[in-house]
Amino acid sequence: MRTLLVAALFLACTWTARSAGAQQPLVGYTPASAAHEREVESDAIRRPDPSKAATFSRELSREVHVSGTPAQARTRDYVIAQMKSWGLETSVRSYDIWMPHPTEVRVWRVSPDTLRLNLVEPPVPNDPTSALPQYLTVNGYSGQGDVTGEVVYVNYGLIEDYAQLDSLGVSVRGKIAVARYGRSFRGIKAREAERHGALALIIYSDPQDDGFVRGDVYPAGPMRNAAGVQRGSVLNADGDPSTPGYPSTAGATRVAESAMEIPHIPVVPMSYGNAAELLRGVRGAAIPQAWQGGLAFRYHVGPGPVKARVVVHDDRATHPLKPIYDTFGVIRGSEYPDEMIIIGGHRDAWGPGTADNVSGTVSVLETARAIAEQVKQGMRPKRTIVFATWDAEEWGLIGSVEYVEDDSLRLTKNAIAYFNQDVSAQGPRFNGGGSPSLRPTLRDVARAVPDPNGKGSVYAEWRRASNTPASLEPVMGDPGGGSDFAPFYNHLGIPIAEWGFGGAGGVYHSQYDDYNWMTKFGDPGFLYHAAAARVAAGMVLRLANADVLPYDYAEFARTMRRYLPAIDSGFARRRWSGNATAPLSAALDRMEEAATAFGSARDAALATGAAKDALAETNRALMRVERALTRNEGLRTRPWFRNLIYVADENNGYANMALPSINEAIRRGDEALASREIADLAERFDNATHAITDARRTISAVSSTGQQRDR
Ligand SMILES: [Zn+2]
Repeated sequence: MRTLLVAALFLACTWTARSAGAQQPLVGYTPASAAHEREVESDAIRRPDPSKAATFSRELSREVHVSGTPAQARTRDYVIAQMKSWGLETSVRSYDIWMPHPTEVRVWRVSPDTLRLNLVEPPVPNDPTSALPQYLTVNGYSGQGDVTGEVVYVNYGLIEDYAQLDSLGVSVRGKIAVARYGRSFRGIKAREAERHGALALIIYSDPQDDGFVRGDVYPAGPMRNAAGVQRGSVLNADGDPSTPGYPSTAGATRVAESAMEIPHIPVVPMSYGNAAELLRGVRGAAIPQAWQGGLAFRYHVGPGPVKARVVVHDDRATHPLKPIYDTFGVIRGSEYPDEMIIIGGHRDAWGPGTADNVSGTVSVLETARAIAEQVKQGMRPKRTIVFATWDAEEWGLIGSVEYVEDDSLRLTKNAIAYFNQDVSAQGPRFNGGGSPSLRPTLRDVARAVPDPNGKGSVYAEWRRASNTPASLEPVMGDPGGGSDFAPFYNHLGIPIAEWGFGGAGGVYHSQYDDYNWMTKFGDPGFLYHAAAARVAAGMVLRLANADVLPYDYAEFARTMRRYLPAIDSGFARRRWSGNATAPLSAALDRMEEAATAFGSARDAALATGAAKDALAETNRALMRVERALTRNEGLRTRPWFRNLIYVADENNGYANMALPSINEAIRRGDEALASREIADLAERFDNATHAITDARRTISAVSSTGQQRDR
């Protein structure tokens, strides 16, 4: 995982609010099929088992399973064996990835005195897994080198932090930059340090971020201790950097290392215990107050007088390519076997990975087991469900990206939705998000799943814990980037959703993200692991069995409309021509109107019965709606990103940008381009509206001619 869901900027509006707990009609189902579906879903929701989840969790976190290692091949075999034993059709897709593994990482303080830093995370008492052999503390895709220089503290290493350093007259050129984690994706920190001429970058976990400032540290509490290290990739592109835009299959053409979009300087993650040994003696200009972190001394930016030496070497010269393995378990649909609902989570980790992402893998497994048991009892879903686990997510979403690039034609034609499970259980607080078209379905399924605290549904507890006013819906996350939904969503425009249970923790990408931490702090009874799988079982069945796919394009259009004021104020700030978003606003009015009309026609048709052929045609039209909001040439900044609705901000990596084709043009200061992008997107919204109108026409014809009833 790179990041958890990023909170949406606004609350969903009142017209979708419903009283918690009330039984609602099932959107997209005839009355008869709705009653049956409620039974099938509640049966499936009952099946996930906390004790089975605990067993899977313990087995899958028994070893450190970094992508490209033999231990990670063993998790492939474990997952496949489980799925086979439940009767799923299984397969493995393997790709060869340019993924150097570190062979050496060392850091010294060399001035004013010499101190070799111990970068290892030591075992803690009463936690056997903390003593497992561990992976070196290097950031994935770090450059190699042996460099020495004065230390400069760069705060979070954001673009604006370097601007601040400029104003202080301090440069990192020829120096060792030390940045704290937080506020941006670490790959952006590496890119900016390299752009500004640093010899190397050290990224450390400040206690203010997830250490003792936030709570007791492991093993006394869940937060990061003085030796805890956040590993993680510093690759900014998604997928294998040697095969940009196409799959890393056997014999694939590869770009030369010199042409890859990868960091070129050593980048080393560090604990705050070690970072203090470097930062304590740094002097120089007074820092802005906001740059002070949680260590017990006054921070300074330097440069020096402390000097450091950083050494990183890897195996790129001898064997840079590593095999990775995505696993698939398939339950064929009875009526629409070509149409697929895919649920997946990444199977690789930086340590034992009990939260990130054994918990997501366990949710996928328990969901697969629940549905497979139903199939044995004669309850087969109408559409095909694919249960996937991805390799090498931690290195840059590589397993899912290579798969999507490999299977893009089939996915574009047949994928109904992709559901992502990344850190699905490490605490009690529910979070959900995804494409606005699927949010009402996720809320509805969350109403049907009991919260493990016994006080009500997951939905009711979600509202309560987030203090959501009665007239509103809980805030949901937008799909930006940072996990395996990205290729499905950003590259192909497939609707996605994700959810999970979060909580306080400071073991992200550390050796201490282990079974002992999970059983003491994260999810002691594995009840939330099971609850994530219960939501998943409801979600896959709801989409798999629908007579009409329950995408909500009225909520979608309303959500989009809320992004227009920011565009208008962007224009106003630059004193560009007024009323810029009028074409978009009009297109969204047409989209919402068409979606509302479709909803009425759908409900009328389903109430009186509808022919199966016409329903299938309606569904084909609905599947075109979000595909119409992509474009083949992608974003001007990043052609691989074809979806024009949400993307990770190219200058942050964690923050989301909505309507990026327009907002990136505004950021560039190009009024003509911004206006062209508005016209382009308005036209695409109209194309989406045409697909909705086609769906309405198809289903209206059904109800008005009173064709034979399907059920
Ligand atoms: Zn993860």
